Amino acid sequence: MSADDELAALRADALGCVRCALAGGRTTVVFGVGSPTAALMFVGEGPGRDEDLLGEPFVGRSGKLLDLLMSQEIGIGRDECYIANVVKCRPPGNRDPLPAEIDACRPYLERQIDLVSPRVLVTLGNFATRTLLGTTEGITKLRGRSYAFRGAHLVPTYHPAAALRGGGEVVAEMRADFVRAKALLGGSREPAASARLR
Ligand code: URA
Repeated sequence: MSADDELAALRADALGCVRCALAGGRTTVVFGVGSPTAALMFVGEGPGRDEDLLGEPFVGRSGKLLDLLMSQEIGIGRDECYIANVVKCRPPGNRDPLPAEIDACRPYLERQIDLVSPRVLVTLGNFATRTLLGTTEGITKLRGRSYAFRGAHLVPTYHPAAALRGGGEVVAEMRADFVRAKALLGGSREPAASARLR
């Protein structure tokens, strides 16, 4: 089976997933969107209200900022990358995903990463960064450099919602992280720090 077909099969499996209690409250499973052969992948936290209704990641206010930074700093649109979340179903009231929910959903995310096989993986916020790097360190400490992750460069940055709340300084730091991601896409030799792989 091609990676494309495997991703489609994984999506079909996820659409019927009842591995955790989030299944009971969802409108749609928000599996992921974009090119299955993308060199750049973004990982967010989990669907909000708009995403739950539409079945696509980052379509609300956070998504508008993500699209803007992607276009201005990397020069691509969302169809040229792949976007997924740590959890595929909306936590009620937009609460943080629970450890058991993250663990239940982790195999989907890990398989998505393996199948898309991006050169650069940008993690948006604490949940995505901590889940993939296997650390409890906060995003403020983790961002500003890249990490080796399953043959890719992992570039941690803030969640766009944090940038919307935090204003200009946070947005400027996100821009710098996107510039770092672009350089790594182009083959920059920034040394990747080693990180614990899960
Ligand atoms: N926030 C996320 O982390 N993911 C989305 O898809 C939307 C908002």
